[in-house]
Amino acid sequence: MNKRGHVLNAALLSVGLGFLVEPAGSVETYVTVLEVGVPVVLGALFPDVDTAFGRHRKTLHNLPVLVGFLAFPVVFGNLEFVWIGIFTHYVLDAAGSKRGIALFYPLWDREFGLPIGVSVGTRGAGVVTVVVTALELAVAAVVLHWPPERAIELGEAAIRAAVGAAAG
Ligand SMILES: [Zn+2]
Repeated sequence: MNKRGHVLNAALLSVGLGFLVEPAGSVETYVTVLEVGVPVVLGALFPDVDTAFGRHRKTLHNLPVLVGFLAFPVVFGNLEFVWIGIFTHYVLDAAGSKRGIALFYPLWDREFGLPIGVSVGTRGAGVVTVVVTALELAVAAVVLHWPPERAIELGEAAIRAAVGAAAG
């Protein structure tokens, strides 16, 4: 996926997450979108730094890097939501493009991806980005708002908010 796809995915995901955390649609919702959205978008841009430093889709596209960003806030009390951006970048690269990512680099060079990817930069890439984002929000709704009835209700609201943001 290209930068445009990653930023779109991260921004829409943040809108949806804002509604999942603060469903009221009030000022708190928009503050949460901002609070989560900036670090998530920055995190989503980070892995492709390996186009310039290291080997693309390997050096910064692997599970050790994700674990590092999960551990960082625990150790340093900083960069709390950046891992979400890293994670969604991996999902979009693995699911939304023809080439996979080297999940176990540097132990194993092999790139893993789902066989459903489309070519980067095509019209289909935009559709895949929105679909992947909606699926991620559905999972987030379940994680944040179990039991399922509440999760489904809020998940639908979050996806509507994200898709609305994509359309507008
Ligand atoms: Zn990438």
